Amino acid sequence: MAIETRPKDISIERAAGRMSVVWQDGHASEYELAWLRAHCPCATCREERREHALNTDSLRLVATPPPSTEIVDAEFVGHYAIRFTWTDGHAAGIFPFEALRASCPCSACNPDGPAPLIVD
Ligand SMILES: [Zn+2]
Ligand SMILES: [Zn+2]
Repeated sequence: MAIETRPKDISIERAAGRMSVVWQDGHASEYELAWLRAHCPCATCREERREHALNTDSLRLVATPPPSTEIVDAEFVGHYAIRFTWTDGHAAGIFPFEALRASCPCSACNPDGPAPLIVD
């Protein structure tokens, strides 16, 4: 694995709603937890987003609370990914470091804002 996709240090600041990653090559990335949740790569969330994208004519009002953007737990998945447990119990999304690094929201990596998380 390339050093730029290997994290050296990860800290989740719950109060600020942010995750900071310092990579082995020294680059630092800061992700909004809300952004991470909105890009959850699990099959269920991806299906929901695809349906939503197809239904551009209709507005759907949902009475259920929006997905949680707070994290209660995070764990490594092997050496290649991180998995979060959100306060609403959702824990299916596995975020590969390679995809996170590619979506680094800093202006040097992605001048037009964070790229969508590509996990395929
Ligand atoms: Zn999900
Ligand atoms: Zn960056």
